[in-house]
Amino acid sequence: MQTIGKAQVIAQAWEDSLLGRIPKDKKDYPEWYKNRLELCKKCPKNSSNIAFFKLPAKVILQRLMGRQACSLCGCFIKEKAWMKTEVCPLKFVEGEKAKWNAMEVITADHNDFNIECPNDAFDIGLTDDESEFYLNVFDQKIGDKIEIVLFITHKDGFHVKEHHLGCGCMGDVSYNKHPDNENRTIFRMTLDTSKYTEGHFEKHLSLMGYTKDDPERNFKHFPLRIIGEAYK
Ligand code: SF4
Repeated sequence: MQTIGKAQVIAQAWEDSLLGRIPKDKKDYPEWYKNRLELCKKCPKNSSNIAFFKLPAKVILQRLMGRQACSLCGCFIKEKAWMKTEVCPLKFVEGEKAKWNAMEVITADHNDFNIECPNDAFDIGLTDDESEFYLNVFDQKIGDKIEIVLFITHKDGFHVKEHHLGCGCMGDVSYNKHPDNENRTIFRMTLDTSKYTEGHFEKHLSLMGYTKDDPERNFKHFPLRIIGEAYK
């Protein structure tokens, strides 16, 4: 399993933009996109919020073009924020927390899965060894129930047959076909934090199923690690 290359992601961002997939009218922007743009607008790392003589070289051109860019990564904010696979680069700065998170993972291997989380408060990605997807639900008050919804897509369709939960705090599991995309499964579950202790938690979930083009019905495995921090 591997993530799509950075260059491809950026090319896709431009393609999305050039093809006009970013709505022309701001009133048609989806909430998650408006939220990202708003966070970037107020951010001190936004090139528009930095005095010209203090601008890093990588965003001077963007400023001269009259465009907002992130001074950490150099990307145009309008295009970067449109990509659900992107994450605010403060995530990679020691001691800092990303202002907005990745909502989608696209894997380059066609045998693998793409996964999208519609909740933009969570962060989604691949573990460092690329053996599992992870979902970071960040800080959670002990006693709360966390609703998790994921869209899991496989190019050949993925029929979930079984699930294995790491422990008893995971429940209310359901999976249904997406009404507009037969290759997409809507997965829902609840995480009950009432028995958690303070600090870091990790929960493992495995979905088992087969793809519709496989006459042998060999089970495929979709692994997910849910991580977060519990507090009182
Ligand atoms: S991407 Fe993150 S660091 Fe860059 S301008 Fe936006 S909020 Fe700030």
